[in-house]
Amino acid sequence: MNAAFSTFIALFAISGVLSILLALYASLQKTRFSGMHLFVWMSIATAIYTFGSSLELASSSLGNIKFWIAFEYFGLPFISPLNLLVIFHYVGRERMMTPRATAAFLALPALTCLLMLTNNLHGLVYQQMELRADAPWPLAEFAMGPWYVVNGSYTLGCGVVGMWLLARHLRQTLNVYRKQTATMLVSLFLPIGASLIYIMNLTPYHIDPVPATMSLTNLLYCWALLSGGMLTSTPVVRENILESMRDGVLVIDPAGRIADYNKAASLLFPFLTSQLIGERAADVFPKERLRTEDADMQFLEAEESQIEWLADHELRFYRIRSSPVLHKRGGGAAGRTVVILDVTENVRLHRRLERMATHDGMTQIYNRSHFVECSEQLLADSRSTLEPLTIALLDIDRFKLVNDSYGHDVGDHVIRHVVQTCQAHLGERDVFGRYGGEEFALCMPGRPTADAYRLLERIRLGLAAEPVKTAAGAVGVTASFGLVEARPDQPLKVLTKLADDALYVAKQNGRNQVRIAPDGQGPADENIAPSPHGSPNA
Ligand code: GH3
Ligand code: MG
Ligand code: MG
Repeated sequence: MNAAFSTFIALFAISGVLSILLALYASLQKTRFSGMHLFVWMSIATAIYTFGSSLELASSSLGNIKFWIAFEYFGLPFISPLNLLVIFHYVGRERMMTPRATAAFLALPALTCLLMLTNNLHGLVYQQMELRADAPWPLAEFAMGPWYVVNGSYTLGCGVVGMWLLARHLRQTLNVYRKQTATMLVSLFLPIGASLIYIMNLTPYHIDPVPATMSLTNLLYCWALLSGGMLTSTPVVRENILESMRDGVLVIDPAGRIADYNKAASLLFPFLTSQLIGERAADVFPKERLRTEDADMQFLEAEESQIEWLADHELRFYRIRSSPVLHKRGGGAAGRTVVILDVTENVRLHRRLERMATHDGMTQIYNRSHFVECSEQLLADSRSTLEPLTIALLDIDRFKLVNDSYGHDVGDHVIRHVVQTCQAHLGERDVFGRYGGEEFALCMPGRPTADAYRLLERIRLGLAAEPVKTAAGAVGVTASFGLVEARPDQPLKVLTKLADDALYVAKQNGRNQVRIAPDGQGPADENIAPSPHGSPNA
């Protein structure tokens, strides 16, 4: 027998044996990979095709050749669509392949098989088949029928779609599983490449080399199956979960080097590229972008932390949860997984709500409840530190008149002006809040009465010195003040009441003045020298 023939026959037979072994191996695997049964069927179809090809080549008559070609068609048309179905499962798109879709998908190969069996009647697959005159051994030569082209296109189409799915998957997949996917991709290319060689008539006596490449394809599948755990459900499922997670995931090995990351992680940290795999994680993160006090990127190891990260000139907030990965059986740490959650919107919303709950919308100073809360705390502190603390109330004089004469908008403008004037004079520790409509409160830790009085006088004079420039023209504004210094036994409520009483006295005495509450519980001392005509009795 011619050497080329023997080689091809042997290759085809080996390919068939391998396919059978692979089908057996795959069917015995305890795996939940949902595409396993499809893979088994694909291997069986491959075995039928390759054995048929081997026996076709070894046939000594045209009758035998025809028989084995028909036999091949029980496998051949199914291989490529089954392969595509396996790939659908492999890339996690099995839900697209409902039983009905699968049946529809395999209907065309089934029809091809039927047409081949009845080819003698219609010649749709092979128009004619005869022995080649130039071959040293009986070899068929045939003219393609129209269905041959249909089946060929379908086979090629399935292969191309499969390659496209795998190539897409290769880009998205975790690095750990890339080798498997690449192996499948290469395996799939082999028969397609061989078909091209066949179409271009590059083989001796135009022998179809595809069955021979099947052995290599199956060998690669076999290798991937044994080495990478391909077609076992866990990596695929785990990988799909990781990739579909909105949270970023980093895998760090025991030496602190980046072992892997998912797509979401590379969106949160765009500097993460596959070249950085194997680099020390703490070195990879640009330190200048971390806006949280953490020189050594400790957040990668802290169980739970929150960092502020400067991303594209915008500060973002990431909650980071890092947990050790332990070896399955007893061993030590296999590394860490770091889950990164973008909580920027939550933090922003939280801060906005917090601000709305504590600040006055119009003036952006503390609202009454927050002022009271802060003052209670400062009052308690002053009791333990024995520091003086004064409380003051301020009310704009004849404000109703401003509203009535110039309108509410001008009134608002005047209120904001009063707030700004106060702020210009206040110290860092003074707490300022809007107490009511045009009434404000001050809590001044560390200021005894005389000091606080001088501060309030500066504010009062500052207000009275210059009218406010409004849309309706210049509007004169003054305010009256009531001031009280805390005694150890007085709660805030009592202090504000005393300040209010002093304010009332200021109003009664002609406004535009600061009044100090008398020492004691009674009404503000009418004998205090009222400013601006005199000095306080502090
Ligand atoms: P007095 O010197 O005795 O304090 O006289 P007054 O006119 O200021 O009297 P009062 O304090 O009772 O009047 C407060 C007025 O302030 C009544 C209310 O319509 C007005 N007001 C309260 N809140 C606002 C506000 O947010 N904007 C404006 N434009 N007016 C307000
Ligand atoms: Mg008023
Ligand atoms: Mg008032």
